[in-house]
Amino acid sequence: MNHITRDFHALAADDALLDLALEGADIAPLLMVLVHLTGEEYWLDEVAPHINGPWNFQETVPEALKQRLRARLKEVLLDFAARGTPLPPEPPSGLLRKMLSSGVGGPVPEEYIPMILEEMMLDDNDPKTVHWRTRPSDEALAAFRVTIIGAGVSGLGMAIKLQEAGIPFVIYEKNKTVGGTWLENSYPGCGVDTPNHFYSLSFEPNHDWPDHFSKRDELWKYMERLADQYDLRRHVRFETEVTAASYDEARAVWRVTTRDASGVAETVDANAVITAVGQLNRPSIPAFPGLEEFNGAKFHTARWDHSVDLTGKNVAMIGTGASGMQVGPSIAPSVGHLTIFQRSAHWAVYNANYHKSVGEGKTAALKLIPFYAKWYRFQLLWASSDGLHASLHVDPDWSTPDQSLNETNQQFRETVIEYIRGEVNGDPELMRKVVPPYPPYGKRMLRDNHWYKMLTRDNVDLVTDPIERITADGVVTTAGFVPADVLVLATGFDARRMLAPMHIEGRGGQTIRALWGDDNPRAYLGITVPAFPNLFMLYGPGTNLAHGGSAIYHSECQVRYIMQCLRELLETGARAMEVKPDPHDRFNEYLDATHAKMVWAHRGVGNWYKNKQGRVVTNSPFRLVDYRAMTEKLDRNDYVMV
Ligand code: NAP
Repeated sequence: MNHITRDFHALAADDALLDLALEGADIAPLLMVLVHLTGEEYWLDEVAPHINGPWNFQETVPEALKQRLRARLKEVLLDFAARGTPLPPEPPSGLLRKMLSSGVGGPVPEEYIPMILEEMMLDDNDPKTVHWRTRPSDEALAAFRVTIIGAGVSGLGMAIKLQEAGIPFVIYEKNKTVGGTWLENSYPGCGVDTPNHFYSLSFEPNHDWPDHFSKRDELWKYMERLADQYDLRRHVRFETEVTAASYDEARAVWRVTTRDASGVAETVDANAVITAVGQLNRPSIPAFPGLEEFNGAKFHTARWDHSVDLTGKNVAMIGTGASGMQVGPSIAPSVGHLTIFQRSAHWAVYNANYHKSVGEGKTAALKLIPFYAKWYRFQLLWASSDGLHASLHVDPDWSTPDQSLNETNQQFRETVIEYIRGEVNGDPELMRKVVPPYPPYGKRMLRDNHWYKMLTRDNVDLVTDPIERITADGVVTTAGFVPADVLVLATGFDARRMLAPMHIEGRGGQTIRALWGDDNPRAYLGITVPAFPNLFMLYGPGTNLAHGGSAIYHSECQVRYIMQCLRELLETGARAMEVKPDPHDRFNEYLDATHAKMVWAHRGVGNWYKNKQGRVVTNSPFRLVDYRAMTEKLDRNDYVMV
């Protein structure tokens, strides 16, 4: 609580800064702060009727009422500072529940309360930290070695918790520095689609995000900061790739083979291996005939070649997913001509904050007004997590199942179509091309990055005729030839071939490739696999979020679970733990059955979530609150301890 108290005094000492913070802050979290500090419940009754949803642009609080609220809060803050009153603890249960629902303009069910409190960390302690019940001896800890593969946000989050627990670890990272996907993707316009005051580790919030949806450099900087702040770099072997890991059953250790930048291979022992390689790190390059013959510069979005000046060039971009959606509008104004090749249309929605900066006032509020950042995080969590989940279930009696799933989904479809029509000025040709035939959310929902407006530019063409081949100087479609100086492949990732290209060999010589084949990964909770003792996965099979939420949220759930596994091993002296086939199989049956009712399994949709057999392998079909409940507590009975 100390830092809150200190900053709070700084704020109270600077009247102009306090006014700036109060003016710049969103009204709903300010309301929460006021009620939290004072217990003055009547403010909820007066203000909440004007809060119509969790996003700041959904409130219609009259200006005069806002000013009264700000004035009262200013008085309270100054009084707290003058008296040196300690900040209050979590609001009493009844008031807390009323605050939560008032703040987001709708009911917050009871089942969400633990999850919300964990995310907010009102007393600054991380309740997700797994504490020792009986701390192992220093010798036992020193002798236990964990290997983490990957220094993206999941790997770093895992490392922080291992470090806190005093468990030794080494991270192998194929790149020169940390950041993972936010290091590798540096294409023009690259940024996050989740509001990033929520898209950050709960125990390491960042109050300096310049935008509500910040760009790649800021996200990468955040990861660099994590590495420095926790002094993690000394544990990382950079430019060193794990090529193989095989389990030595007799010794209950993993033999981990690495290759460094100079090609030198090394094999070391690890008691546990934690993969944190992400799902989206191996670019997928379609085998277009003639691709190799293209004479100009050509690169995948995740391997952007910044030495190529696109000014005035004829650029051909293949792919219209999340990456293409950000690249197109970012380069269209400066290229000579941009031809976009779309195989299938994607849905994209408008968000009023998508291009908005945070501003000095809100940043001051985040840093200085006690509890503001915490209540703000709650707002964003609620705005972008499970809210839509129920509407993504198929209604078996729905009359137009090809285009929507149910009434809510149909209404959503119509709203988005109207929005698109406005953006493309009703152009019937563009409407025909860009409105997807399948239900919204069938593919990953995109945020409109001025994409539709971009399509109306004179120097942009959207080609929907299938690509036949690539030539030395352009792209041939079924309708003709399109010349190009530069070819951008916004063609996504090889997500389903998880853990490739590593050779992972478990107990009895069983390999992960033989078990999963090319594209059918399965794991218990997305984390553990029978016959692969002490192998744990972050962002593993069935854990990608497609309805909302943040990959970082899921990753923190997984870290907590894995920390409990390691605690179990270290406290009991067991050498290894292996998930039993039963819970693993039951979990996957449940996962598949749940997916079958969800939009992304829709028969009319091709997406990167499904494997060749049509099984959804990358995604979680569960709400965040469900996945949290599944991973909150390790059930020892699910495992064979050796
Ligand atoms: P993607 O969503 O898989 O999109 C790939 C695009 O390439 C699709 O339009 C696909 O068409 C097209 N394509 C692939 N193979 C093709 C072929 N042989 N011929 C013609 N077109 C082809 O990949 P992405 O855009 O890189 O995004 C992947 C994921 O990364 C996202 O879903 C998201 O989870 C994450 N991401 C997030 C952000 C963000 O937060 N802003 C940004 C970038 C990426 P079809 O649709 O017909 O398959």
